[in-house]
Amino acid sequence: MPRTKAIYPGSFDPITLGHLDVLQRACRLFDEVIVAVAVHTPKAPLLSLAERVELIEQVIHHHFGDVHPRVIPFDGLTVDFARSQGACAIVRGLRALSDFEFEFQLALTNRKLDSSIETVFLMPKESYSYLSSSLVKEICRLGGSIAAFVPPEVEAKLIARLRPSSSHASSSQNSQERE
Ligand code: ADP
Repeated sequence: MPRTKAIYPGSFDPITLGHLDVLQRACRLFDEVIVAVAVHTPKAPLLSLAERVELIEQVIHHHFGDVHPRVIPFDGLTVDFARSQGACAIVRGLRALSDFEFEFQLALTNRKLDSSIETVFLMPKESYSYLSSSLVKEICRLGGSIAAFVPPEVEAKLIARLRPSSSHASSSQNSQERE
């Protein structure tokens, strides 16, 4: 039987538990899923491409073990990347109503560009259906806890980037405690 392959494209700036939930569902449906990290994003990303890729690799290695989805950066049209990888589907996550109109337009445009590639929408667990990378960055920037929304590797990275004084303060506090 032919193996089914899908790509899961996005900015992943940074990967959240919502992304991870969709990826786990996609891996149950397809033989192979490639996490496709957009090199260029509509909004300037907080994290560099290398940082976004590294975090995704750490997180999926942690959750999937040695046999984990591949992570590949891509530039240009999503359908072109899907075709170049031999994928038959593009996986997208669908949150509460907010995503629908944009995703509907994107899926139909991609179908017009290449009718052989289907877009498959997956819904995350309800508790992640309001979660976005932008919201997580904003909460972190304002000093709130993001532990319930992102894996620990991502939490540490965002705190270091968005609250450098607090991570410095807590590390000097920790070293004072050790002395
Ligand atoms: P993009 O910049 O292409 O919107 P994102 O990295 O924000 O990329 O998201 C990639 C995909 O994951 C999109 O289909 C988006 O709707 C989906 N997604 C993001 N956050 C969640 C979430 N909390 N639950 C389900 N899907 C999500």
